[in-house]
Amino acid sequence: MSQPDFPTRIAYTEACTILQRVAAERRMPTQRLALSRAHGHVLAEDVVATLAIPSFDNAAMDGFALGHADLSASGETLLRLRGEQFAGGPLASAVSQGECVRITTGAVLPDGADTVVMKENTRIEGESVRVLQAPKPGQHVRRAGEDVRPGDALLHAGDVLTPSRIALAASQGLPELQVARRPTVAVFATGDELVEPGIPLGHGQIYNSNREQLMGLLRADGMEPVAWPTLPDDPARVESALRHAGEAFDLILTCGGVSAGEKDHLPELLQRRGKVHFWKTRMKPGMPALFADGGTLGPALFLCLPGNPVSVLATYLALARPLLDGLQGRAPRPAWRARLASPWHKAHERLEFLRGRLSPGDDGALMVEPNPADGSHRMRAAADSDALIVLDEGTREYPAGTAVTILAY
Ligand code: AMP
Ligand code: MG
Repeated sequence: MSQPDFPTRIAYTEACTILQRVAAERRMPTQRLALSRAHGHVLAEDVVATLAIPSFDNAAMDGFALGHADLSASGETLLRLRGEQFAGGPLASAVSQGECVRITTGAVLPDGADTVVMKENTRIEGESVRVLQAPKPGQHVRRAGEDVRPGDALLHAGDVLTPSRIALAASQGLPELQVARRPTVAVFATGDELVEPGIPLGHGQIYNSNREQLMGLLRADGMEPVAWPTLPDDPARVESALRHAGEAFDLILTCGGVSAGEKDHLPELLQRRGKVHFWKTRMKPGMPALFADGGTLGPALFLCLPGNPVSVLATYLALARPLLDGLQGRAPRPAWRARLASPWHKAHERLEFLRGRLSPGDDGALMVEPNPADGSHRMRAAADSDALIVLDEGTREYPAGTAVTILAY
């Protein structure tokens, strides 16, 4: 075979660099979404405050608004009840000397008042209120602007819209936000041996595990993927289906049929009709993954994952997720770390994504227990685990207690 005109057997970091570059060139268009639909989207604008929050001095407790100077330094104080101020209610009259106003949490602090005494520390006596326990000056008052001032940078392009961030945008009165449109994703399993769960197995057949695994991983990342019928190992059928999907989706994720076997048709197809960005990364599992532009198959990007279910998990988390993040302009995720609960000997030089179970150690800090069943077909080990442990290229010996990067799933 002639020398390939694309990078092959590359380092994982190089694969990430290529994914980031292509994602930046293919950044998704943005759209305005109502807050009610924005959850989980990546923000495509900076949000700067125009409103102070709180926008007025208000009560932090249910009780009575008063002037602190009126309170006796040594004992109880009797104040005349002047009126009431409820949250959102009509404005009460000002508090004069020796007076107080009944107030609820969030209600505007009446003029003349500077402190709130909580209801529990008072007793009603006819038209008056006895303050049994004096609050500190200014206590239980939330000052205008103490949380947010106009001009403050509140949210940044690249932030994922969590419920708290959406709540913050709502507090500024914003009904909509500019977000990255989510990539549309088509999912293909390939292989003559695959049968859907619920159908009896024939000789040499296995159930399709990857479809629902990939669909679940994508949905957990906020995508609304479409599963296509499983592709047989037939080059013409594969080409025809991928051409249809390649015209209609932003990203095609396939699994299986991407190594060097007689029935692995995807590398030939994407070299002939697409533009391959890389094929084969020095990682375990997941070495054969291929990334390409669709070319004459259509405008979609193609990320072809290997067939073994654990390879699908690893390549989704290590390659597909960074690609989806990049397409949406998402800010980099933090690289979380945990300590190895047991030592590990890596039998090879490649970067490895080993399965492991997270748990709190004796001091509560995060620990990860490597699962010794490290074959890429060992689905049970993946199901018994909740993170991939990233074991760097080169290093082979990992004593217990080593801090390692983890990808939780
Ligand atoms: P391949 O890369 O197509 O040679 O597949 C590698 C291994 O993964 C083979 O043992 C396949 O039977 C298995 N495999 C491929 N696709 C799936 C799938 N969707 N579900 C479960 N196993 C699969
Ligand atoms: Mg196959």
